[in-house]
Amino acid sequence: MSPFHNAVFLKSAAAHEDLPESVAELAFAGRSNAGKSSAINALVGTRIAFVSKTPGRTQLINFFAMGADRFIVDLPGYGYARVPAAIRAPWEELLGSYLQRRAPLRGLALVMDVRHPLSERDRRMLEWFRPTGKPVHVLLTKADKLSRAAAREVLKGVEREISCLAPNFSVQLFSSLRRSGLDEAAATFRSWLDGGADA
Ligand code: GDP
Repeated sequence: MSPFHNAVFLKSAAAHEDLPESVAELAFAGRSNAGKSSAINALVGTRIAFVSKTPGRTQLINFFAMGADRFIVDLPGYGYARVPAAIRAPWEELLGSYLQRRAPLRGLALVMDVRHPLSERDRRMLEWFRPTGKPVHVLLTKADKLSRAAAREVLKGVEREISCLAPNFSVQLFSSLRRSGLDEAAATFRSWLDGGADA
C-alpha cells in the first residue's frame, strides 16, 4: 500500500513560526490548474488536497501528516499574474525561504501539465531550488490528454532539459484521471522520505 494512504490534513502555515516540527517532508509545487491537487489526491487515495483550495488556504503552505513527523506539503499554486504585489510579496518570501532553507524537506515534486511543460515560472522554480542540492521529480500530468507517442516526445524533451540542470532532477508521465504513473511516483517519493537527510 502507498505510504501516503494514511495522510490527514494537519494545518496551514502563513509564516515561519507556523511550520510544524518535522523529520521528513515532500513538497508539491506547480502552476495553478496544472493538476497538483489531483496528483496529491491520487497518491493519497482520497480527495484530501481539496482542503488547500478552500477559501483562505490557497496562498498558504498546507501540511498533510503521515504519522507524527512526516508530511506532504502542498505549496501555493503559482501563475496568478493578477495577484497584487503587496499580497504576493509576503508569501513569495515565505515560499522562497521554505524551499531554500527547510531542513526536513527531502525533495520537490513539480507538477506540470504535459501540454504546457517548463513554463517560465517552472524554470525559475528549478533554478531556485537547484542550489539546495535536493532532488526534483517532475510529474507531467494529464498525460491522458495526449497520444502515447506525443506524451513520450514531451517526456524526452523535458528529460533532456532538466538532466542538464542537475543529475538528481527526474521526470515521468502521470495521469490522475487514469491513475497511471502512480507506482513510479510513489516509489520515488518513498525513497526520498525513507532515505537519509541527504537522500
Ligand atoms: P491544481 O490547481 O494544480 O491543483 O489542479 P487540479 O488538480 O485542481 O486540476 C485542474 C483541472 O485539471 C481539473 O479540472 C482537473 O479535473 C483536471 N485534471 C487534473 N489532473 C488531470 C489528469 O490527469 N487528466 C485529466 N484529463 N484532467 C486532469
